[in-house]
Order: sequence, then structure tokens, then C-alpha cells
Amino acid sequence: MTSYDAGPVAALRRISFLLERAREDTYKVKAFRGAAAAILPLPEEELVRRVAAGTLTDLPGVGASSAKVIAAAVRGELPDRLARAEAELSGPLTDGGAALRSLLRGDLHSHSDWSDGGSPLEEMAITAMELGHDYLVLTDHSPRLTIAHGLSAERLTRQLGVVEAVNDHLAGGFTLLKGIEVDILDNGSLDQDDELLARLDVRVASVHSKLKMDATAMTRRMIGAVRNPRTNVLGHCTGRLVTGGRGIRGQSQFDAKAVFEACAEHDVAVEINSRPERRDPPTALLELARDSGCLFSIDSDAHAPGQLDFLVLGCERAEAAGIDPDRIVNTWSKERLLEWARK
Ligand SMILES: [Zn+2]
Ligand SMILES: [Zn+2]
Repeated sequence: MTSYDAGPVAALRRISFLLERAREDTYKVKAFRGAAAAILPLPEEELVRRVAAGTLTDLPGVGASSAKVIAAAVRGELPDRLARAEAELSGPLTDGGAALRSLLRGDLHSHSDWSDGGSPLEEMAITAMELGHDYLVLTDHSPRLTIAHGLSAERLTRQLGVVEAVNDHLAGGFTLLKGIEVDILDNGSLDQDDELLARLDVRVASVHSKLKMDATAMTRRMIGAVRNPRTNVLGHCTGRLVTGGRGIRGQSQFDAKAVFEACAEHDVAVEINSRPERRDPPTALLELARDSGCLFSIDSDAHAPGQLDFLVLGCERAEAAGIDPDRIVNTWSKERLLEWARK
């Protein structure tokens, strides 16, 4: 029996992280994350007592497989489920990208359970810290994306207070930055109050609706958002889906040269979205953005903590396109990034 001394919460979090990173079924992950949250407030003596009595599964949120993990970790033994996850899932996600990944200081696009993410924002922040980030920008959705529980102005205002409280409790140099993934409305305006947008550190603007509008209208719509002085990053610009549970979706049609020239002119970074099902922009457009003089932001668009590790997938593509690391805004220091985002 291999010994293990990090404790049951760490074991459950690590299993969850590895499953999310490997894009395994989310309901499995929820069980482990739920169990970690359930036992976190309990004193160790109670866990020891419940392991001895076999009553862990009486706790709400603790199922049979989580109970096995907890029991092993409480006894100081490496849980089988964790050993298996480490053996099967912890290897590199891809062959390339490691050199550029080592230059990234943070991530500009992530979601918590305030919108359509699976975990509380503090879990996203702690995992980002564990990955060595200096910062994570929390970018939950804007009001119109009701399907993703987009945040009203009131909820976003409340979230900003929670982000400040979390930062007060985080040690070291890490900061959870205030952000939004704001919908680009049909007319090119942004789906949130301007004065609230002004309070944020970083704003990602993305198209999530009417992806098939005609190219002239879509070009006008995207350029409208890029020209908005609040916009810092143009998120997943084509909206395509290349694989995965949500099916396949073609790319939006627009005058990419005009959009990227506007990005270069207005100091807006083109996002390299690292999600495996997006791989957005497609390679030809990535190269066009490179040749148009654009800045880039390599983002995870994580909806679960383990997905924060997707960044290397975007790095691999940026390396393949020969993009100079200094044109990638998340290779910059936090101070330089914030100064750029203030415009
Ligand atoms: Zn999005
Ligand atoms: Zn997103």
C-alpha cells in the first residue's frame, strides 16, 4: 500500500482536476467535487470516526466511490481511484506548446458557477494558483446569455464584492481579476452597463447568438465591438465547434481581414481559445491575424478548474503559427497587462 499524507480533500480535488482536464463525464466529477465540499468543514476526528464506523455515505453529498477515496486518505493510504487517475490521465495533454506555456503568467477567460461554470470562483482561483498563475481573470457571462445564467448588473456588482473578499484571503502574489465575457449584441454594442464595464480589469467580448448572420452584418457587428473602448479581447471569433458533446458548428462568416485590422488599430487582442472543441480561430485566420499585426491572448475558457490546464493546447497552436511571445498579452507581467487593459 502506497502511503499518502495530503488528506481526503486534496485527494478528491486532485481526482476531479484530472477528470476535468481529460474532459471526462461531468457527473462523475461533480460527485467528487461535491464530496470534497461536504467534508471540508468537518473536523478530522469526525472523519476518522465515520471511516471506522462505515458511515461516511450518511453524509449528504458523499457517495460510495468518494467514501472509498476518503477512507483510504484518512488511513494515510493512496486511494486506488487517485492512483488510477494519475496513471491514466496526468500525462501531457499534447506534444507541443510547453515552451510558450512556461511563459504564460495567467489566463484572461474563465467561468465559475455564477454563470455556466461548474465550480465556485474560489475553487477556480485556488486551482489557478496551484498551476502557477499570477492571475486569473474571472469572466462570467453577461445578462442576455440566459441559457448560461448570464449575470445581471446587480449580480455582477455582487460578484465584484466576492472577488475582493477572496483576494483578501489569498496569500502570495496571486490576484483573481475582475472581468466579464460580454455578449456582442446584434448591433455591435456590449451587453452590460458601461459604467460597470469600466469597473472591471479585463473585458472579453464574444458573439454567442445569430452566428449565421450574413457576412456584412457580422463584420459590422464585430468591428463595432472592437471599436468599443471597453473591449480588450475578441473571444472565440468564429464561434465554430470542431468536436465534442455539443456537436459540430461551422464558422461565422465575416471579413476577417477588416476585423483583425480593427483589432490591431484599437489594441484589442485576438483570443486563441484553447478549448479542444473550439480551436478558434482556425489556422488560416490565426495566420491572418498574425500578419495583420494583432495582439493575442491565449485563453482556457475554463468552465471547471481542471480545464484551466487547457492553455498548453492554445500555446501549441500559437507556436506552430510562429507568433512572437511578446505579442501574447498573457506573457506580460500583471502590471503591464492591467495597464494595457485600461487603455
Ligand atoms: Zn464564449
Ligand atoms: Zn467563455
